[in-house]
Formats: sequence, structure tokens, C-alpha cells
Amino acid sequence: MAEFDYDLFVIGAGSGGVRASRIAASHGAKVAVAEEFRVGGTCVIRGCVPKKLLVYGSHFAEDLADARRFGWDTSGATFDWPTLRDNVAAEVDRLEGLYGQTLGNAKVEVFRERAVVAGPNMVQLASGRTITAANILIATGAWPGQPPIPGAELGITSNEVFHLPALPRRAVIAGAGYIANEFAGIFNELGVEVTLATRGDKMLRSYDQEIVGKLLDISRHKGIDVRLNFPFRAVTRQADGSLLVDGGDAGPIETDLVLWAIGRVPNTKGLGLEAAGIALDGEGAVVVDAYNRTNVPSIYAVGDVTNRVQLTPVAIREGHAFADTVFGNNPRTIDYSAIPTAVFSNPPIAGVGPTEDEARALYPELKVYRSDFRAMKNVLADRPERALYKMLVDGATDRVVGLHLIGPDSAEILQAAAIAVKAGLTKAQFDDTVALHPSMAEELVLMR
Ligand code: NDP
Repeated sequence: MAEFDYDLFVIGAGSGGVRASRIAASHGAKVAVAEEFRVGGTCVIRGCVPKKLLVYGSHFAEDLADARRFGWDTSGATFDWPTLRDNVAAEVDRLEGLYGQTLGNAKVEVFRERAVVAGPNMVQLASGRTITAANILIATGAWPGQPPIPGAELGITSNEVFHLPALPRRAVIAGAGYIANEFAGIFNELGVEVTLATRGDKMLRSYDQEIVGKLLDISRHKGIDVRLNFPFRAVTRQADGSLLVDGGDAGPIETDLVLWAIGRVPNTKGLGLEAAGIALDGEGAVVVDAYNRTNVPSIYAVGDVTNRVQLTPVAIREGHAFADTVFGNNPRTIDYSAIPTAVFSNPPIAGVGPTEDEARALYPELKVYRSDFRAMKNVLADRPERALYKMLVDGATDRVVGLHLIGPDSAEILQAAAIAVKAGLTKAQFDDTVALHPSMAEELVLMR
């Protein structure tokens, strides 16, 4: 009889947990995974996927307006939020089903209930059953944070925003990171009066600030009221049902919806980790080494719960590397350099490598190339907004070390260009490539 019920028990069936389960099973391990909410995790159920579909859905407002300049009569076009919301929800249901099937095909047993760690080789299910496993993987992700102020509970988070019964007339979005800028774009396109308010003096702190400055200008031009240095003091409900956001000296804002988008905290509360002696950092993230090992030899963690890089593709890689290392006799770690990222704001921002400020400290001979242009489609549409592409080159080696873009389809363009940056190609090699004309991406080989 086996010493343990399973070779691997995974807590959390999100991006990292599902990949780790499937790959471990393919290496011959007996695997189970527990999920207290829905299989697929934040990205599929209430993150990247439904968000991107809302970005597509909302952008029709602009496309329909622009279409007139291209000869189309779009009068009479109307928008119905429940249709978009429900179609997106149905797509999420379909994907959840596929994730479940993938686990089933891989012979991974799924427990649709909460599991907590009960010891180095033991988990306890919400139904009371205890299960033993040679290895435990914590892949519980992160949870949207709320500020510790009176009335915070009157606001919603990205967990609830996909299911609104109706669109609000006005919305205050708190924070100026990924989620705040993405939903500011979505709501603005759908006709909601948006105020984006953040406590600090910068939006999207980790992005190139010249690119972010362009987003700030365009967002304001589109009618988004961006308030920097806004201290959130309290939220109260008024007699007419509206909300009042107290911003101290920055003044109150009356609104119909408050969306907290102020960062996501590692989901470790009540998971039994302290009792099992697993080390957490000051923010409650599970501390792991490059091989995703915690300080307890049989327990590992991947993805947002480790608070390394909160991105789905990174969690997937970590889950895969964990499974190959522990069950595939192929120890490997993840290369975290040159990870391309994007904010699906309107227009989107995408970047790879250090920002200009960071690069100046790293490369004394830094050269910065810029292309500030108006996309052809925007010219005919009479839309004033311009795109900006920046290329950062280490003058000592001619290597392209960073690319930062804002403009239509910038995420699509950057994913391809990031291969060249990751491969260490030089500016001369970019210049050697013939332009594909007319395209926006051709700017990448035409910067002089
Ligand atoms: P971010 O970490 O991106 O941004 C948090 C924002 O909230 C910052 O602007 C921060 O300001 C501000 N903030 C923090 N605390 C407060 C407060 N108490 N009051 C007001 N403002 C505050 O968080 P998100 O919630 O947008 O996203 C969480 C993570 O999810 C991201 O870091 C990202 O990794 C991931 N994600 C990725 C996406 C993508 O790849 N497209 C999309 C969505 C999420 P300051 O900088 O001044 O501290």
C-alpha cells in the first residue's frame, strides 16, 4: 500500500495549479487538485479573459464613431450591457469546462471544495476529509485588496465587476495600475463617467513614464477624470443611493460605483500555512526559492501567491518547471528577464525590458530612439491621438534592451518584437529588416 494517498496535492486550480497538475500527471504522478471557486482561476474566470472580451466589446463605441469617416452610416447603433456581460460569462463557462476536461483527461482528481494545509504531508478538505500527499503545491493566487477605510465595503473589486446588473452612470476607479486603467478604458467607452483616482503621483509606476504620460493625456482627452494624489478617506452611502467618496483636501466625489483596483494580495489567509511552519513574507506571500520550494521540504508554491511576478504566463511557467523538476527528473528554473507585459488600456501600452529611467542606470551609453506618429487609421478617422514607440539601445553593444509602445494593437506588436529583445538582437539587425508597409509595427525598423 502506498505511503500517501497522492504523489501531489495541489491547492488551487488556476493557471499555475492546473499546469502543474497536468504536467505532474503526465510524468506519472498520482495527482489531485482542490478548487473552492471555479476551475480556471482568476485569469480565466474573473481576470485576463473576460477583461479582454470587455475591451473588445467596449471598443466598438470608438470603431462605430470612426466608421462614419470610412463611409458607414452607423446611426441607430445601440449598446446592451446584459448582452455583452452574458455572452462573456458564457464564454467563461465554456473555458471552465475545457479546463475541467483537461484535468480529467490527464487523470487528475478534482475536489471542488476548499482545502487547507494540515501538515507537511496532509491537507484537510472543507467537507472534513483529510488527505495525505508526498508533495503539496500551493497555487491559491491573489485576492483584490481593499483599503482599510470606513465604507470600503460599499465598493466592489474586479471579482464583482464582470457581473454588474446594470452599468453605473458614474464610476470612481481607485488605483492607477493595470486593472484601474483597463476598466477606465472599458467604462469610458461604454458611456460611464469615469474618475480614476490614485493616492500617488504616478500611474502605472512600473512602466516607462513617458509612455504613461501619453496615456494620461489621451485618457483625459477621452473624458476620463484622472486625479493624482487623491487620499481615500471614507466612502458613505447617501440618501438617494449614490456614494460619496471622501478625498480629504482633494474634495469629495459623488458617484454610483466605486471599483477598488489597488493591487492584489497573496491569497494565504486561513490556509493553515503558519500552523504548518511555512515562511511567509511581510505581505503574506509564500517565500520560495528558484525551484519553487518553501522552507518545508514537501511543500512548494507557484504563481501570484508567491508575489514574484503577478502574471498568468509566469505562473504557468512556474507550475510547469515545478512539475518537471519534482516529477520529470528535469530540474529547471524560470528566466524572469525580458518578460513582455501589456496594459489593455485604451489605447493599450506594452513594454519589454527596463524603462528609460531604469536603463539609464544600467547602461551608461544608453541611446533612446523614438517614433511619435499618428496611425493611418486615426488620420482618416480624424482622431487626434498619436502613438509613441521607444527603443532603448545599449550604445556599448548596440543591443536593443527595451521596447515601450503605446498605440493601437501595441500588445500584438510587442509580443513579436519581444522575441528579438530576448534574443539579444542589435539595433543594426532591426534596421536590416525591411519594413512591412504600411503598418504601425514598421516603425520598429525605421527608427533613426
Ligand atoms: P497594480 O499593482 O497594478 O496597481 C495598484 C495601484 O493602486 C497603483 O496605482 C497604486 O498606487 C494604487 N494604490 C495602492 N494602494 C492604494 C490605496 N490604498 N489607495 C489608492 N490607490 C492605491 O494593481 P492592480 O490591482 O491593477 O493589479 C494587480 C496585479 O494584477 C498587477 O500588478 C498585475 O501584475 C496583474 N494584472 C495584470 C494585467 C495584465 O497583464 N494586463 C491586468 C490586470 C492585472 P502607487 O503606485 O502609488 O502605490
